[in-house]
Amino acid sequence: MNYNKKSVKDADVQGKKVLLRCDFNVPLDKKTGEITSDKRIVAALPTIQYLLENGAAVIACSHLGKPKGEWKPELSLAPVAKRLTELLGKDVIFAKDIIGEDAKAKAAALQPGELMLLENLRYDIREEKNGADFAEELASMAEVFVSDAFGTVHRAHASTAGVAAFLPAYSGFLVQKELDIMGTALNDPKRPFVAVLGGAKVESKIGVINNLLEKADTIIIGGGMAYTFLAAKGYGVGTSLLDPERIDYAKDMMAKAAEKGVNFLLSEDVVIAPEFDADAECKVVEADQIPDDWMGMDIGPKSVEKFAEAIKSAATVVWNGPMGVFEFDKFAKGTEAMAKALAESNAITIVGGGDSAAAVEKLGYADKMTHISTGGGASLEFLEGKELPGVACLLDA
Ligand code: AMP
Repeated sequence: MNYNKKSVKDADVQGKKVLLRCDFNVPLDKKTGEITSDKRIVAALPTIQYLLENGAAVIACSHLGKPKGEWKPELSLAPVAKRLTELLGKDVIFAKDIIGEDAKAKAAALQPGELMLLENLRYDIREEKNGADFAEELASMAEVFVSDAFGTVHRAHASTAGVAAFLPAYSGFLVQKELDIMGTALNDPKRPFVAVLGGAKVESKIGVINNLLEKADTIIIGGGMAYTFLAAKGYGVGTSLLDPERIDYAKDMMAKAAEKGVNFLLSEDVVIAPEFDADAECKVVEADQIPDDWMGMDIGPKSVEKFAEAIKSAATVVWNGPMGVFEFDKFAKGTEAMAKALAESNAITIVGGGDSAAAVEKLGYADKMTHISTGGGASLEFLEGKELPGVACLLDA
């Protein structure tokens, strides 16, 4: 896939109306409806400010939650417009609809240096269905399209891909950074390239393992999915998470790694517990010594050391998925140790969205990483080497 795309800096936006797809899918307090974290709004500011300073009239849009075509007032973007106004220190015009009379009138009157926000895109069912008529109506308000919502680029929706059929399409700074860093890591990585994969399900990481076997020098497998690989080696895994239907797949992957000379690292020791509980009794055993009625909850200290060693000598590290049940303090040590190893490494370090990103942030290592992806699902599909519709539709550089 070509990740070399034109960015907002390549676009002539002076005096132009620019449709800007943002990710304002912010967490809301269930009771008060207030925004509980404005991180995503703050992250969108550099592209917004660049456009405003360069004379664009900016029509921002986003989804919020899953209204599935219903006009749910609790999912209105009005609180986001208010927060944006506070952050920018200038009025943000809020449209009461998406492609209706109010939006169109306000868009038509919008002046260079002004910003407006449309109502929640997913109030219209055609957004997620990528309806061409909806995309065309959205596009009709603007002359240029800028995509800055990395978290949705793996979805072919009207505002992420459809509009590009009607407008010249560029990446915003957030999307551009993802493409630059992750694209280079996958297409032309500095070596050794080490991939650290964890999380619960083998199923959700099959594509990633398969793709990375073609690219990485070392693949480290931890977390719940490691037990299917340990079972494939013939070890008893007790009551650990196991995907019996994918044991053969795990065998194939290990054989493929051997064939390609990829270093494939699995846990040598594991932290086990008799039940899935935050306060469960725990002990460390060799990975082939898990008793029948115990389960693996984290990687053990020997594995931590081995994995950290591989990370230390890497030039590029990609990490996606926790090494254990990190939500329980007792079983968070392996995940914490990986976060620390990445933070201390001189390599280009890339953390996929979701749980591993949350762990890195919670531990205060966020600014020690080269890049923390802003999209969980999107970064996973990126690592799978899948075509991302919201990236493929942008103009090639
Ligand atoms: P994923 O969404 O596939 O990245 O999985 C994340 C989840 O995997 C987290 O909620 C972890 O608690 C869970 N997890 C990690 N290691 C284990 C394990 N050994 N047993 C069960 N769940 C695990």
